[in-house]
Amino acid sequence: MDIERGVPVAKLTTIGTGGPAKALARPRTAGELSEALRYAREEALQVLVVGLGSNVLAADDGVDALVLRLEGELAGVEVRDDALAAGGGATNAVCLHRARDAGLGGLEFACAIPGTAGGGVFMNAGAYGHDCSDVIARALVVSAEGKQWRTAEELGLEYRRSALLPGEVVAQVEFRLEARAPDEIKATVADLVARRKDTQPTNKRTFGSVFKNPPGGLGAGRTLELCGLKGHRIGGALISPKHANFIENAGGATSADCVALMVEARRRARDQLGVELEREVVFAGLPELPPLT
Ligand SMILES: Cc1cc2nc3c(=O)[nH]c(=O)nc-3n(C[C@H](O)[C@H](O)[C@H](O)COP(=O)(O)OP(=O)(O)OC[C@H]3O[C@@H](n4cnc5c(N)ncnc54)[C@H](O)[C@@H]3O)c2cc1C
Repeated sequence: MDIERGVPVAKLTTIGTGGPAKALARPRTAGELSEALRYAREEALQVLVVGLGSNVLAADDGVDALVLRLEGELAGVEVRDDALAAGGGATNAVCLHRARDAGLGGLEFACAIPGTAGGGVFMNAGAYGHDCSDVIARALVVSAEGKQWRTAEELGLEYRRSALLPGEVVAQVEFRLEARAPDEIKATVADLVARRKDTQPTNKRTFGSVFKNPPGGLGAGRTLELCGLKGHRIGGALISPKHANFIENAGGATSADCVALMVEARRRARDQLGVELEREVVFAGLPELPPLT
């Protein structure tokens, strides 16, 4: 398996920012994944799996890690009775299409989440009242120490988080689905996609939600909108005029621009509304946001 050097993480993320990865490997089989993890251990490199990079913000001066992109068999999808077995690198779109063709429902909520099965487990991705914890039967977690099947409960899935540790890679996911007519699935998906288009930027470079929704019912987007942040711009990064919990790359944005917007957004939410927002986007090679003083 090849190890690539200096590939810009910007090429691997939906926001399109981020400097070079120290090393990049694209394992296609379980054997190659184990080989890559052994390499990282020998070289004392941290491991960063990137799915579609749809919730990752990486440092402009690069990421000192072995970045892994799961491809080939590790991105395949297979239907087995009422279950769908997906490689960790399989996209939600492919999983959903395969499930629909097999008359299996349950994954519809993921239609507008541009990620992979593995990224969905790590983030416990969700939308419209459902998340991955509703449909995951178990996942195969591989690390330099070995591999282990974990149930949804053992994965520690909570709101936009899991208990997976650095260096643990979701190589396969088994979804437990229910019989549903393909036409019904199609209709639900069309409805959800239309709702998404009405409320969120769908044709811009973003990394999805910037902050988690705070407890109390007022979403992060509405909080930031009330703070007058829609359309606020720093450098090439813009708080979406459509939904204030999205940052758009409006042209030439850097990760530093995005972080500066996040710092300003948190400060205003706390000062103006007394709301403390918690980051949802995953930082790679970036320091934590400064504490609110
Ligand atoms: C336009 C847009 C809309 C979005 N809407 C939603 C939404 O409605 N709901 C929602 O929850 N999210 C949403 N997101 C965010 C994002 O799509 C989800 O968090 C998604 O699950 C991330 O998947 P990914 O494969 O791209 O992971 P990445 O963004 O590549 O990675 C995210 C984290 O998961 C880890 N990871 C990725 N793959 C693996 C693996 N195989 N094993 C272990 N760890 C792994 C990464 O290391 C990283 O820590 C949206 C993003 C965009 C750009």
